[in-house]
Amino acid sequence: MTDNFIRKSFIYADSDSHFPIQNIPFGIFKSGDKRPSRACTIIGDKIIDLTVLESRGFFNDILSGNNVFKELTLNKFMSLGNNTVSQIRREIQKLFDESCNIIKDDDSLLNECLHHKSEIKMCLPVDIGNYTDFYSSKEHATNVGIMFRGKENALMPNWVHLPVAYHGRASSVIISGTDIIRPKGQTKNDDEQLPVFGPSKLLDFELETGFFISKGNNHGDPIPVNRASEHIFGMVLVNDWSARDIQKWEYVPLGPFLSKNFATSISPWIVTLDALEPFKAEKIKQDPEPLPYLRSVENHAYDILLEVKIRSEKMNEFQVISKSNFKYLYWDICQQLAHHTITGCNMQSGDLLASGTISGPDKSSFGSMLELTWRGQNPIKLTSGEERKFLQDGDEICMTGYCQGDGFKVGFGEVISKILPAKS
Ligand code: CA
Repeated sequence: MTDNFIRKSFIYADSDSHFPIQNIPFGIFKSGDKRPSRACTIIGDKIIDLTVLESRGFFNDILSGNNVFKELTLNKFMSLGNNTVSQIRREIQKLFDESCNIIKDDDSLLNECLHHKSEIKMCLPVDIGNYTDFYSSKEHATNVGIMFRGKENALMPNWVHLPVAYHGRASSVIISGTDIIRPKGQTKNDDEQLPVFGPSKLLDFELETGFFISKGNNHGDPIPVNRASEHIFGMVLVNDWSARDIQKWEYVPLGPFLSKNFATSISPWIVTLDALEPFKAEKIKQDPEPLPYLRSVENHAYDILLEVKIRSEKMNEFQVISKSNFKYLYWDICQQLAHHTITGCNMQSGDLLASGTISGPDKSSFGSMLELTWRGQNPIKLTSGEERKFLQDGDEICMTGYCQGDGFKVGFGEVISKILPAKS
């Protein structure tokens, strides 16, 4: 691990870059020409085209001649399992280390495989078959519970015994940079007798992370909690867009449906658990102790600093409105995966499982407008002089996340989207 900390690449990455050689996340990009999208990684501001390295035979020993990076998504690569992914990542770190001359001294190869990030477009990295959203932050669940049911019944009795979740909609998971069209739907005010139809007035974000499945499990064979990390490829930032007024009217008794299915934004780079490994935080103490099938020996709490920023059409700069941390999650990713599959439910390579809104203990660390403004009671003051209870048309939301190392960061980049008016 020490070796990883002092490692430097011949490609420059400053101390604030989310993508030094210690990271090596995976993504899918499209260059300006007519070539199809393909796999890449990043160091500093430089996108590294993995198909070039693959076609030159650098991964032959690991992939045994299998071409995986020419695919339009990462699914085939992910399905090879975490041992293969780890070997590929280490090989890339070796090839781009400042002490390695193989690529550094080959101008034509460098020219072929490197692109500046401004010249390319990042694409949805995975063909997502299934998307599930958990509800694993105790602070968030408690805050929402207090608002909707009062302090006495804030947490439902099942919450501390199992990681609550709902099956979400995979087809509307979209990549950072894609605009969000304000959804329309049924809403009903408490003082009205009948519902009305129209654009949602209470549009919100939810600060989350998500993880992708590498190798799946067979139908009928649950993934044990202490083998779960072997099935997790890596993590992204997730913004689970939520229409609170639609949600409030529709969610009883089966949970969220249209209030969530119009869009879920993810960041383009998938950061592997290997890259996050040096940034473990203290494991949360769970009380009561979970049932045996949810007792994890491993620790998967990571110290990932998360931030939400807003920019209205009247603002030049983004304004930070929340600072949270992945380490606040009560149920960890392995418990989520073990619980999801305990019935024999089969996971497939490329399935996405999101954390649920990650709120911390302080008001400044709440992960949604619902909590930050306490249902609109305490509007957020913007630097433009405007106020926000919920999101308005033209607002942009940007989420970032990173782990702080000694003189470097391992980060996720950002997930950013703009709200467009509802369609007439
Ligand atoms: Ca959510």
